[in-house]
Amino acid sequence: MLLGSPAQSKPPRANDILTAPHANMARKHAWRHTLPEQTYVPGIMGYRFLPVQPYWGTGGQRDSVPFGGYRNGTICGAHGAQRASAHAFAACRLFRYTECLEFYGELSPLMAEQPNSTPNQPRVRFAPSPTGYLHVGGARTALFNWLFTRRYRGTMILRIEDTDAERNKPELVNGILEGLKWLGVDWDEGPFYQSQRTQLYKDSAKKLLTNGTAFLCYCPPEKYVGGDHAETDSGPAQVRRVVRCSCRDGKPSSPDTKPALRFKVPMGGKTQFFDAVFGEREFSNDEIEDFVLLRSGKEGEDFGQAMYQMSVVVDDVDMRITHVIRGADHISNTPKQVLLYKALGAAPPVFAHVPLILGADKSRLSKRHGATDVNMYRTEGFLPEAFRNFLALLGWAPGGDEQFLRTSELLEKFSLDGVSHTNAVFDRPKLEWFNTQFLQKLPIEELLPEVEAELKRSGLWKEEWASSAGHEWFSKTVDLLRPRVRLLPDFSSWSRAFFADDFSYEQAAKDKFWKDPKVPDLLSKTADALATLPEWNHDACDQASRAVAEAGGVKAGLLINAIRVAIVGQAVAPPLFDTMVVLGQERVVRRLRASLKEFSAT
Ligand SMILES: [Zn+2]
Repeated sequence: MLLGSPAQSKPPRANDILTAPHANMARKHAWRHTLPEQTYVPGIMGYRFLPVQPYWGTGGQRDSVPFGGYRNGTICGAHGAQRASAHAFAACRLFRYTECLEFYGELSPLMAEQPNSTPNQPRVRFAPSPTGYLHVGGARTALFNWLFTRRYRGTMILRIEDTDAERNKPELVNGILEGLKWLGVDWDEGPFYQSQRTQLYKDSAKKLLTNGTAFLCYCPPEKYVGGDHAETDSGPAQVRRVVRCSCRDGKPSSPDTKPALRFKVPMGGKTQFFDAVFGEREFSNDEIEDFVLLRSGKEGEDFGQAMYQMSVVVDDVDMRITHVIRGADHISNTPKQVLLYKALGAAPPVFAHVPLILGADKSRLSKRHGATDVNMYRTEGFLPEAFRNFLALLGWAPGGDEQFLRTSELLEKFSLDGVSHTNAVFDRPKLEWFNTQFLQKLPIEELLPEVEAELKRSGLWKEEWASSAGHEWFSKTVDLLRPRVRLLPDFSSWSRAFFADDFSYEQAAKDKFWKDPKVPDLLSKTADALATLPEWNHDACDQASRAVAEAGGVKAGLLINAIRVAIVGQAVAPPLFDTMVVLGQERVVRRLRASLKEFSAT
């Protein structure tokens, strides 16, 4: 079944879209309106109103659709037939998607959602370098890739970019994988290690020498010092013409040395690419250096190591990556990579550069802003789903005011259209807010395994809480505690008395709530009164305690606070009589009596 819902079978015309409710989106993509013959149709797979260029399919190469075009002979995804001249075609930029359209003034519903349509399933990759831990920024990039590909039932590939032998530490790979697992970001293929694929990069680079898009450069590296505009990303004011050495024209500068392999950037013209976040981008070729593909070889080698641009593009082609979603700091690498795609005879993917993450002072997020290692947040006791919610909103907005989003909702809403151009600020108090929201709002059965894991870590867990009556008690207790919990370790620190009998009395709580000389006598009498209660419930505990306070001539509040310290050791805890119910009669009475020893000791 290819068709979407009936509402989608009659798509709005371009003019309709420029008015509400999609006006904002249309403005964001204003550049698209300048394209000729353009119209909008409901996007496939949940994307709405993508720019497509309808085209009467009479064959020939369709070059006017940057990177999203199809070639003569493209198989129609709808009919399974080759290019039918009676149909119009449209090429979707974001999905590199081509489709026949019954084009009689209206576009066909064939463009409606087709989440199971194999040719259009995205393939994305997350490609960390094991030079450090899993940084918050890397985790956010991984999450965006994951949300995107899971939403559209695509494939997630994990690639470890570990060719820099000096800076990489293999032992850090585990930490990165652990961090991803904790975050819930899983992958379908990999991890692939670039260090095991070096021959592939060398072989591909040598092909470029053969096809004339690369050249042997004998110049000393100093000649190229300073790089180029594309490398420094320093803005148009600093643009200078880059070095073009004579080696590229077959006149080696010093034929006695071992050459490096450089890419032969075309003279003049521009290199363009489509970025799903930033739109059309173009770089003047005169600003792009003839970058190194392979270093010069040492003794006995023809060439040395493949450079970053080469290995990345070869892998992205080899792994059939359709969407490169990565940090905006990679925009300056992209024109070089686009040139490499063309030289290798491959169509570039859709690029989506996501904004950087800054600290509160608007400088790039670093250790001086607090923890940037994802695993530190796991250790601190954040819930992974809360962390996902927080990370997802760093540079992406779902539209609407809702902030608290379950992962299932993120998966429904995530789109590259919602990714912002502006940098995001990492706001720790906001992360804490998300965590408390999840602690309070998650269905209790989803929270219990996290609390169980925390209690196991701290040695407080009892197996009896895993089944029947024990489980019911455990569930009730966690539910009682969670409005006051900020982080998972709170369950084993200030809540310890709920799960263990060996707890200590907080000194400040004793000083504040046990200072009245009548307290020991009142606690003793409360123990006696509670011990005789025939039924153990909230109201019975309430009445018995208030009666003791009244008989002793003190306010109920004084006694309630004193009892709380005696039975849980803390000044702040859930409402007292609810606490008594979950602790049980025998335990409450025993703790009240045991607390009396504290008074004789001081
Ligand atoms: Zn040279």
